[in-house]
Amino acid sequence: MTDSPIATLARPEARPLPAYNAGLSNEAVRARYGVTDIARLASNENPFGVSPAVRQALAGVADAVGNYPDAHCTALRQAIAERSGMAADRLVFGNGSEDLIKILCEVFLSPGDLVVTQRPVFGLHEIYPRMMGAQVELLELDAELGFDIDAWCAAMAKAPKIAFLPNPSNPVGCMMDVAQFARVLEATPGSTILVVDEAYYEYALHDEDYPDVLAMLAARQGPWIVLRTFSKAWGLAGLRVGYGMADSAAFVQLLDKVRSPFNVNLAAQRAALAAWSDPTHMRSGVATTVALREALRHELKALAAPGGPLQGLRIAPSVANFLFLDIGRPNGPVTEALLRRGVIIKPWKEPGFEHFLRVSIGTEQDNARFVQALLVAMAEPVAV
Ligand SMILES: *Cc1c(COP(=O)(O)O)cnc(C)c1O
Repeated sequence: MTDSPIATLARPEARPLPAYNAGLSNEAVRARYGVTDIARLASNENPFGVSPAVRQALAGVADAVGNYPDAHCTALRQAIAERSGMAADRLVFGNGSEDLIKILCEVFLSPGDLVVTQRPVFGLHEIYPRMMGAQVELLELDAELGFDIDAWCAAMAKAPKIAFLPNPSNPVGCMMDVAQFARVLEATPGSTILVVDEAYYEYALHDEDYPDVLAMLAARQGPWIVLRTFSKAWGLAGLRVGYGMADSAAFVQLLDKVRSPFNVNLAAQRAALAAWSDPTHMRSGVATTVALREALRHELKALAAPGGPLQGLRIAPSVANFLFLDIGRPNGPVTEALLRRGVIIKPWKEPGFEHFLRVSIGTEQDNARFVQALLVAMAEPVAV
């Protein structure tokens, strides 16, 4: 592909960046495939809706939008500080936690710096470092589609500037347990900024071996930040609110210099505060999703047995709100067949993972539709 004239003006780091694979909108799928009813299982969204408190908070927003939002998210900051026990000045807020990943890269990375993360990769853990000219080392999974702790420890010995550790991983869903995280922590030099991305924290808490990373990091000599989001368990993906909990106020002050001052909009702040005030609603949706995930796993496992219609299908371990499946054939035609039946999933496009797809856990009805559509799609002969 030849660069357009405008591309020749771009920074050499920006020009070759891949486009983020953000997935299809319901409208695009309706228009392209002529389906009306859609099972939206591509973006790990929460299908159970927000707390009534969020509806109420948003009802008054129109009267307030003439004013700028609070640049420091004061009310939300206080509420999260109170329940988490984290000092308020160690919290930082983003327009989604994606925003915080970008800010971290902008603050700390110079051309040639080393960044380490997991493969298959959450796109932005690779794209934003490369945008700053960093070298990104992607670590492979082990044979069971879990974290390879030896590989993580070996990579840490190279003293990367930043390590992005997604726990659990997206797209795989696997987690580092207490003992594994302790080993990686031990291997991490004090000069490495350890970023633990806990986008699926609330789901993973259902696993008793999921580490209390904040407690384990408390004793660390070295910089760290843990990222969480309102987009998944709290059901606010459309409003964009994420937050980070850092080792120190000094860390947050650095991020504040680069952060766009009004990065969390007024509606988002109000909605997040209201959602946070109703953890019971959040926990109920999460518990339902975890139960539905296990039900889907069992159903797929039975279908994958020898002689079954999905024989050979591999299901990665997951403590999150999605499953990562090795369907044993190119995912493109299967994705198309699912779309024709109104089921949107995420085919993984990274080299080496073209036989995998990620399906989010939806409602019971959505998941059933996915299984039915997958059975039909996999019964079609593989195109050669
Ligand atoms: C979904 C996700 C995020 C962030 O989402 P935001 O909507 O930007 O808060 C961050 N990291 C991972 C690994 C995710 O899957």
